[in-house]
Amino acid sequence: MLDLNEIVDSFIKDNDVYIKYLPSINNLGKVIFNEQINVLEKKWSRTFSLNESIQICFNFLKTIDKDLANEFKNTIKSLDSDNLPYVNFISKEEYPNSSSHITKKRVYIYYDNSPYDVYTILHELIHKLNDYEYVVDDIKTVESFEKLYFGETVSMLGEEMLGKYMLENNFINENDYSYRKYLRLNNVKECIKDIIVENELINMRKKSLDINYDNCLNILNNYSKDSIEYKILNDEKNNLIRIRNILEKKELSFPVSQRYILGYALCEQLSSNKDINEIFKIIHNEIGSIDSNIKDIMIGILKNYEDTKKSR
Ligand SMILES: [Zn+2]
Repeated sequence: MLDLNEIVDSFIKDNDVYIKYLPSINNLGKVIFNEQINVLEKKWSRTFSLNESIQICFNFLKTIDKDLANEFKNTIKSLDSDNLPYVNFISKEEYPNSSSHITKKRVYIYYDNSPYDVYTILHELIHKLNDYEYVVDDIKTVESFEKLYFGETVSMLGEEMLGKYMLENNFINENDYSYRKYLRLNNVKECIKDIIVENELINMRKKSLDINYDNCLNILNNYSKDSIEYKILNDEKNNLIRIRNILEKKELSFPVSQRYILGYALCEQLSSNKDINEIFKIIHNEIGSIDSNIKDIMIGILKNYEDTKKSR
């Protein structure tokens, strides 16, 4: 059986492209980790049928681009090469622990008739519409790395814009609106914990340190007790959630986790822009284009975001 040292070593060997960006993502994560979203009630005010959710997504996309909205509708109705539906809707009652996702061939939406369904349908369908799946197979090249990163960003930006649309059109109330943002931020904070823990493991192995209890304790105690690192690493010491996960899956989670951190920061930065519909279309099309220069566009936005937060 592979031990933790071996898993981290083989990850380092194969993933230059991810490790290069780790320090900047780490810093960004620490900025986001301090954010709070207040919500009065942690529940939804209403339900939606699946058809209502799909219709809201369609009407929302029409406000951005008619063609995009039609593409959305056609994709929902379309069949794959095996004559099976591209988009599969599955009740959460049957599979309470599954989460919606896209594979090379299909989209799987787990629904529970809550307003969250509308966000999920839009999020996964945007992946499908910007040809996200064509890079999923080959994630270790720089080009697909960028597209995967920004693929999450454009789906998350869509969610953000959809929230405002649903609130303005009275499909949801103020609390529903904040509740979705609260859930998203909490989800991103879990990703930040992945990054902080795994960053330490990678740094340990780069210094040829054995990943064992004493060495980890040493690293923990080098941080001041009020630092974000101390809080996260100390929690990990007590519950070992992330370490267990790595041992079980035999891989690190940060290639996936950091996409959501980056996506969150970029959405915050972009969503209040008055030209948001145009920006959304640009990013959406860049993701789907083979020779996109999306990285330069995004790095500028990101730098701006960190500077604004730091100067507060
Ligand atoms: Zn996604």
